[in-house]
Amino acid sequence: MADELEKERWTRRGFLGASSAALAAAGMLAANNAAGQSQDSAQKPANDRRPSEPVPKNSALDAQNSDSVNPPPSDAGGVQTFKYPFSIAHKRLHEGGWSREVTVRELAVSKSLAGVNMRLTSGGVRELHWHTAAEWAYMLYGTARITCIDADGKSFVTDVKEGDLWYFPPGIPHSIQGLPPDGTEFLLVFDDGNFSEYETVLLSDWMAHTPREVVSKNFGVAQNAVEKMPRKELFIFQAELPGPLAEDQRLAAGALGASPIDFAFRTMQHPPAKRTKSGEVRIIDSSSFKVSQNIAAAVVTVRPGGMRELHWHPNADEWQFFISGKARMTVFATGGRARTMDFEAGDVGYVLKTLPHYVENTGNTDLKFLEMFKSSFYQDLALSEWLAHTPPELVAAHLNLDKATLDAMPRGKPVILPE
Ligand code: MN
Ligand code: MN
Repeated sequence: MADELEKERWTRRGFLGASSAALAAAGMLAANNAAGQSQDSAQKPANDRRPSEPVPKNSALDAQNSDSVNPPPSDAGGVQTFKYPFSIAHKRLHEGGWSREVTVRELAVSKSLAGVNMRLTSGGVRELHWHTAAEWAYMLYGTARITCIDADGKSFVTDVKEGDLWYFPPGIPHSIQGLPPDGTEFLLVFDDGNFSEYETVLLSDWMAHTPREVVSKNFGVAQNAVEKMPRKELFIFQAELPGPLAEDQRLAAGALGASPIDFAFRTMQHPPAKRTKSGEVRIIDSSSFKVSQNIAAAVVTVRPGGMRELHWHPNADEWQFFISGKARMTVFATGGRARTMDFEAGDVGYVLKTLPHYVENTGNTDLKFLEMFKSSFYQDLALSEWLAHTPPELVAAHLNLDKATLDAMPRGKPVILPE
């Protein structure tokens, strides 16, 4: 009993009372400092031996990371950081848009996948290029025109909108252009944590670093015809708006015809894999999106009060991007180690292959996030389905549970709780 009291005193509920972490970290700090008191002495019971916080802290960041500032008592030991906010990633600014990346250099644990967040204006172009990693994309906003050619040289040109995906295999050249009225913003995921958008094969960069006489010989034109080519890379640039889609498709196809491969996927035209009263999960892998051979995804929505249930992935690391809302996730890292971290829009999370975790909506709006895997197929196992399909007396003997509690557990795989 005394132990329980001691524990409760250290929990966030005991620590912060009814006020939010933001209030405690920002408002209370200022108020109490003004009154010449330590941060929380006014709220503490007389027998509370927690240290005061006399030294200034980054109160805005503390408020966003309450589970790091005041870890739940179940957290223990050293667990490698598994969060990186795009907010502190370097942003490359160009006329026509911007981009920023989170790779293994920013988030050391993220060895198998990397991400890029990019914005293009209406007409803004991410120039023709390719790279050694596969590229999977999720449209966050607006509309865009994407182009590529397949391995037979046949063209693919289409327009995509919010919620749509695309996938370009390694070495397949492609481009992206923002469309009216306000261009686009999207997230790119690459099947290599070491990927960097600074190391892609760009058309302009390649031409700038090829002797002009070779370029003219290659095209069969006079050298003065290619003299005005850029002397350095464009990467992102502002261009005129493209013409009608059908016209671009016809011109790109030429005599060869269009590619039979669909490099885009209309997520919202497919039913969710699971829907409960607390949310839904859409799973996209090579079984439905054939071209996506290296990357599998789940688009998860969790309503306020809901939770993506305790589970793990036997086949791959999980790279997460938080689209909207607020969440917390605990990763149990074996050997008595566990860490809880907080997430919101624009944050990247990461869970190593097979490590158990949950994702709980801690806000009062819908939580929406992406689960990404370097795999041709999506796979997860839930705690509830494990225990439901194990002899009940064996489970009871482990967990010291009575029969009524065992009987009340979900028999299936709810995915999003409560059902
Ligand atoms: Mn690319
Ligand atoms: Mn997961």
